[in-house]
Amino acid sequence: MRHPIWDTRSAMSAPNSSFDPKQVAALDASAIDGMVSDALTAIAEAGDLGALKDVRLSHAGDRSPLSLANREIGALPPAAKAEAGKRIGEARGIIKNALDARTQVLELERDEKVLVEEAVDVTLPVDRAPIGARHPLTTLMERICDVFIAMGYDIAEGPEVESEWVNFDALNVPPDHPARTMQDTFYVGSPDSGVVLRTQTSPIQIRAMLERPLPIYVVAPGRVFRTDELDATHTPVFHQVEGLAVDENITMADLKGTLDHFAAEMFGEGIVTRLRPSYFPFTEPSAELDVQCFVCRGASIGDPEKPCRTCGSEGWIEWGGCGMVNPRVLDAVGIDSSKYRGFAFGMGIERTLMFRNGVTDMRDMVEGDIRFSQAFGVES
Ligand SMILES: [Zn+2]
Repeated sequence: MRHPIWDTRSAMSAPNSSFDPKQVAALDASAIDGMVSDALTAIAEAGDLGALKDVRLSHAGDRSPLSLANREIGALPPAAKAEAGKRIGEARGIIKNALDARTQVLELERDEKVLVEEAVDVTLPVDRAPIGARHPLTTLMERICDVFIAMGYDIAEGPEVESEWVNFDALNVPPDHPARTMQDTFYVGSPDSGVVLRTQTSPIQIRAMLERPLPIYVVAPGRVFRTDELDATHTPVFHQVEGLAVDENITMADLKGTLDHFAAEMFGEGIVTRLRPSYFPFTEPSAELDVQCFVCRGASIGDPEKPCRTCGSEGWIEWGGCGMVNPRVLDAVGIDSSKYRGFAFGMGIERTLMFRNGVTDMRDMVEGDIRFSQAFGVES
């Protein structure tokens, strides 16, 4: 850009016919023509409205060469003022018109671009009522219940706010058991209230034994509560499912056969379970329940060539707990333990969903994002 005001050479060489002795270089005709042609070039080159705004500032703003030249009018001899003023006025008019014309062109271009980019195809079909998805925990629980209903079991339910006696005492959990502290259990009211949010679905077994006629075959799914922080592997609210059978002549072989059938229904034909000795207050004997890995079926054990992510190449996956109902539990609910025996088992639904469907973060299950549920599709 030229700076005629400070260009003394141009002042010296500028044609000067109308006034003398005092010449103001910035106001001579060629300097102003130069300013106009600079402005017109810049206006023509402005590619969008943002660029044009900058051009307007530098060629028509308060600090533009033309405005600065205008300030010099006062220094002219009175006879020359009118002519210089007219010249500047004309120059401003030309630049303003060019700016207005360019603005119109660029606005039109912008509008056309927006119309193309934001075009909506009104002929596309619309999703008028977005369809939700059933939560995979719900569908999995129903699937589990179906397996047991087919075997002649009833579904049993119980309250989520439970008496401490049913939740602990009747299940043979001693008063000084650490699970009964406030670190693990939500008490409703004070710890002396004797009312808790159930920490397991086992109290439903107690209620079933108290309320139902013998023999008893029930499966009990439900929500349980523990004072855990929500993280990738814990949640304070989760789901369990328990099974209970009380009848004459029930043995641990019945338990094992039932669990094997359950495993095959859930994970595929031929998948079996494994019991490992353990301890639970309400069963005796008690066992940890493992299910055979339904992905590698044990082929990954000791074979570094074929690692299995589902079972960690162990061949088995921890699934839950089980055992024969402790005779003391039967006695507590008034069932003749010399005549009747029972078995019970239980497992976490969230944990089952995690290894069965490859869910790695428990938080995904509680956040309620429909995209998580939709990924499971509709499982029948
Ligand atoms: Zn495996």
